[in-house]
Amino acid sequence: MIYYCNLLTIEEKRKIRTEKLTLRQLKLKFPEFDWTEFVQNGIFHSLANITLSDNETIYLSDFEYIKNAIKIFSQELNNNKKNLDNLFIWVFVYFSREFLPKKFNVVPAKYSKLLRNHKKYSATRMTGCIDSVSDLMEFAVGRLYVDNLDLKIGYPDNIFNNTHMTEIYREYKMNNFNFFANNILINQILVRQNLQELGKKVDRKIWLMGPAVVNAYYSAQFNQICFPAGILQAPFYDSSVPNYLNYGGIGAVIGHEITHGFDDKGRNFDKNGVYHEDGLGDLWTNKTIDSYKSRAKCIVDQYNNFLIKQINKTMNGNQTQGENIADNGGLKESFRAYKRWENNNGKEPLLPGLNFNQDQLFYINFGQVWCSKYKASYLEQSLKRNVHSVGEFRVKGTTMNMKAFSNTFNCKPGQQNNPINKYKIRNLILRRSGNFTFVCILVLLMIVWLVKMKLLDVRKNEITLVFRVLKSQSIE
Ligand SMILES: [Zn+2]
Repeated sequence: MIYYCNLLTIEEKRKIRTEKLTLRQLKLKFPEFDWTEFVQNGIFHSLANITLSDNETIYLSDFEYIKNAIKIFSQELNNNKKNLDNLFIWVFVYFSREFLPKKFNVVPAKYSKLLRNHKKYSATRMTGCIDSVSDLMEFAVGRLYVDNLDLKIGYPDNIFNNTHMTEIYREYKMNNFNFFANNILINQILVRQNLQELGKKVDRKIWLMGPAVVNAYYSAQFNQICFPAGILQAPFYDSSVPNYLNYGGIGAVIGHEITHGFDDKGRNFDKNGVYHEDGLGDLWTNKTIDSYKSRAKCIVDQYNNFLIKQINKTMNGNQTQGENIADNGGLKESFRAYKRWENNNGKEPLLPGLNFNQDQLFYINFGQVWCSKYKASYLEQSLKRNVHSVGEFRVKGTTMNMKAFSNTFNCKPGQQNNPINKYKIRNLILRRSGNFTFVCILVLLMIVWLVKMKLLDVRKNEITLVFRVLKSQSIE
């Protein structure tokens, strides 16, 4: 039951450092485990037909996990090998349950219902099949989705290249009568393709998320931010509404993803996605790191004090630190970008029937994005595992740190969402390197360009390029 054992707590996971070593060194470090049989003969040779030498470089980012797992493996191998057999079969069965007949989902369905009133497991067979196809063939589904939208947004150009699409799905030989076998086949193909990437030049054009997904991401290794077509819709983005709403929606999301490059994890990666250890001084000076850490601690303390009334427990500021930094930076960047846009283009019309000005509507749409309702059981789980704060504090935490927010709504000093001492993520991230204004201008230019085009044509190369400039400029 390794998967469920939580060999590492979230707190421990936060402390994970990436270690670079050769396969030979890994074998010396953990001699109890047969790496030759598992990695070289097993995974790479039999699955991907790749011969790995002992000099192969390994980036081990979960050292403590491997240490704990190997301890358990060796104990069980010596004491009761059957436990290990059961574990592997169980993990396989557990992850296969969605592809099996309804009766296999009775227990997960009960669990899911208790936890969050989630209907996923009691959904119709059709919904289940759609989910499954979306997960396993996300670019084919994405092509159908953007085709239907008829907007050239948020997708890699090559999904309209039939030769490319035929090639990536060439081996998907579907059996019309065996859903389970189809899923196993696709997973085998995906694992093999992934393994075969080893040693090849990194393809920076690759999308790590399908176009139909309502989400966005930042990847430190690829130094890339990505906004699939799925998220480019209301309340995040709508080309027919005033820009103050879009800046409060997708603008803050874009800022959030950019800021991840400077959160407590992202700050260790350079523009080429290479990890740099603190203390070497080749990416950040020790003085900058110390200053960063003390300001990051303010954010941790702030969120530690938020009380989730529904379950009478406080947020875990350390666990959610990276996301909170990204939320705070993102909202500030987007608001400043909007004000610059407004300066250049003039005030936009207000919304009929509502007595709010443009800036207020910017914040109201930001709030609407995170408007959520949870079951208590879900909140309990979230508190233990989620690296994002609950919706309420994604709004309160960020806005209470912004002087501009208090000015916008004429909040009195010391009023509930306008504390006298504000936590300044802006300073935390960039002021030390003196480039905040520069970053804002670039973010502004990027958003203006996107909105001007009337379509958020986020071609990754260009965004990556902008981001690369941002990052290299902000390192002291
Ligand atoms: Zn995030």
